[in-house]
Amino acid sequence: MAEAKVKAPRGTFDVLGEESSRRSALEARARSILEGAGYERIETPVFEATELFARGVGESTDIVRKEMFTLEDQAGRSLTLRPEGTAPVCRAYVEHGMHKRRQPVKLWYLSCFFRRERAQAGRYRQFWQVGAEAIGSEDPAVDAEAISLLATLLAELDVRDLRLRLSSLGSLASRREYRERLQAYLHANEASLSEDVRSRIELNPLRAFDSDHPGTQSVMRGAPLLREHLSQDDAEHFAHVCELLDVAGVAYELDPTLVRGLDYYTRTVFEFTSDALGAQSGVGGGGRYDGLVEQLGGPAAPGMGWAAGIERIMLAGDGLGAGRGGGAHAPKPLELFVALDGPREELRGAAFGLVGQARSAGLTAQLDLAGRSLKGQLGHADALGARFVAIVGDARTVLKDMQGGGQQELATNTVVHQVLRAHHAI
Ligand code: AMP
Repeated sequence: MAEAKVKAPRGTFDVLGEESSRRSALEARARSILEGAGYERIETPVFEATELFARGVGESTDIVRKEMFTLEDQAGRSLTLRPEGTAPVCRAYVEHGMHKRRQPVKLWYLSCFFRRERAQAGRYRQFWQVGAEAIGSEDPAVDAEAISLLATLLAELDVRDLRLRLSSLGSLASRREYRERLQAYLHANEASLSEDVRSRIELNPLRAFDSDHPGTQSVMRGAPLLREHLSQDDAEHFAHVCELLDVAGVAYELDPTLVRGLDYYTRTVFEFTSDALGAQSGVGGGGRYDGLVEQLGGPAAPGMGWAAGIERIMLAGDGLGAGRGGGAHAPKPLELFVALDGPREELRGAAFGLVGQARSAGLTAQLDLAGRSLKGQLGHADALGARFVAIVGDARTVLKDMQGGGQQELATNTVVHQVLRAHHAI
């Protein structure tokens, strides 16, 4: 009796074939843009102490309240599959004493993240993000540079119908003051608010700007804006960020209602959306998090970063097809296919050795792994687009040029030399 098939869990997916080469192309573009700007790749563990996210991302956020995959180890320690990348990178910054390096320390990642979301198109439970973090400087040039690097990446990948919204949340102090005013305003209008917003007035009043509830939206149109509460310093910082983006030619819209779903942001926040994406329009975003490193037990080190969703970029981006970014990353063409002409048991060793030699010499090489007849092997080599086929026989080997059409008989141990010569002659 056939067993029932085991399927991938809801909200997860396999990456195969064409999709896989488009991803490699994206990774290559990200690497070249970010490493070119001095960002170093970082890998952090897939799971972390739950406390890192509770403290770092914030107890009031949707991520921490409902979206974390949390498990316990044998000793009863609570672990969580990382839902985002900034808190882990800041943890690593503190743990490795990176404040002693030249500042800012610039790190980038391309990793998978996990959120217990209601799965739908563009929203998964395991998804991938490319992200960049610059920790240790509050210079507005850090903000503008980070934003323009993401703008460049998205432009190079031809992400369609892109908009950049930008705002400043101010420092923690001015935000606290503003928060109180907003809470008072929300309480005064409580009757018109959604249940969800009402329940979070104390915990996270700013999220009210994000609501899609009509009554809440109408209340929020008259709400006090954070922009009017920025300190002189914060306002100047933001003005510099805007000026530098103008210099870089990055177009943006100022949006004082921009709220991000994570608690750690201060000052600059931004989000790229693509109208090509429908409901899940967020492509990537981020901002400054000047208090986070300290909150995680580190020194006072301001930071700025962003993350962009790989699946969303792929959905809205045209620039990853074969022949474009993808072409650069398409598998290398097959230079040598090694076929066996005669009893497999006797010739397998010689064929295997020849493939090894070819690979050591830098050629792409494959051999028959399925016990095909000679005719079958030649058909297979043809289907793989092999440039040369070496047919290994008892004493000698026949080397066939699949493009030029010629063939010659030669000693097996000279085949690689011959293929390399033909290569250089091309
Ligand atoms: P966030 O960390 O929530 O600011 O998300 C940054 C970006 O990651 C978003 O703009 C999306 O492109 C992507 N993203 C976030 N959550 C998901 C998800 N569940 N599935 C796919 N992409 C996501």
